[in-house]
Amino acid sequence: MLIDTHGHVNFNAFKEDAKKVLENTLKNNIWVIMPGSQLSTSERAVRIAEEYKEGVYAAVGIHPIHLGKRRVDSLEVESEESSEESWRTFETRAEEFDLESYRLLAKSKKTVAIGEVGLDYYYQPKGKARRSEMKVNQLKILQQQVELALELNLPVIFHCRVAHDDLIAFIGDIQKQHKGVLRGVIHSYTGTKEQADKFMELGMYIGLNGLIFKDVAALPDPIEVISHISLERIVLETDSPYLTPPQSLTERNEPLNVRYVAERVAEIKKFRVEEIAKATTQNAKNLFSL
Ligand SMILES: [Zn+2]
Repeated sequence: MLIDTHGHVNFNAFKEDAKKVLENTLKNNIWVIMPGSQLSTSERAVRIAEEYKEGVYAAVGIHPIHLGKRRVDSLEVESEESSEESWRTFETRAEEFDLESYRLLAKSKKTVAIGEVGLDYYYQPKGKARRSEMKVNQLKILQQQVELALELNLPVIFHCRVAHDDLIAFIGDIQKQHKGVLRGVIHSYTGTKEQADKFMELGMYIGLNGLIFKDVAALPDPIEVISHISLERIVLETDSPYLTPPQSLTERNEPLNVRYVAERVAEIKKFRVEEIAKATTQNAKNLFSL
């Protein structure tokens, strides 16, 4: 058995066949957690998860990129003007963060985490003042969402892009204030092994996905980082529909492909794939209380 701890089957890319994809996933003994990225995708995650007794779960939250005016892609949400093209990017407005709506969704029995939430400094606005305003706003909204997680005793799925040291400082402060009770995962890990150590010292898990195959600047040295992270702290994910592993038969990533991530982690850490499956499944069950 495997658990895809981060598969967006709630996104527009699965609009036509989410049910079919999830049934096929469950049939292959794979469970999935679907994180929201804003209110509409969080609602959809909860609505889908509530249709299943076991094996399909939701996380709710607002992703930092939705706090500003950004380009998003049609794999995530539908464009307001309809388009025949299957994939394109378009401008969206900043979304207001409405804590009460998220609190309501977080109280569903099928919501197992707050996420994905965090810091994303990849797209920088022009000008020093606007850049610092962006960071202050991201931290403010993150703080509110992490407090919601603490209030409801839920773990947090953290998104972190080009912001690792700020996130380490942020989680460090939270753990100090709350006696280390915050649980969470740094999803789609792209930091260094030293930063991984700091996250693990703060009690966090590390989420690995298709980035471990790709020779991209995102994860500078996957072999070094993965060899270094202890197996007790690894959870697997796909980040479907993105980050498709090279072995995938489909261009769109799907939760089923989490098995390729497991195989690659086994290869790098020199374990049998069954051992990786067993350990990471147990880690995910512990973290998300499944
Ligand atoms: Zn994601």
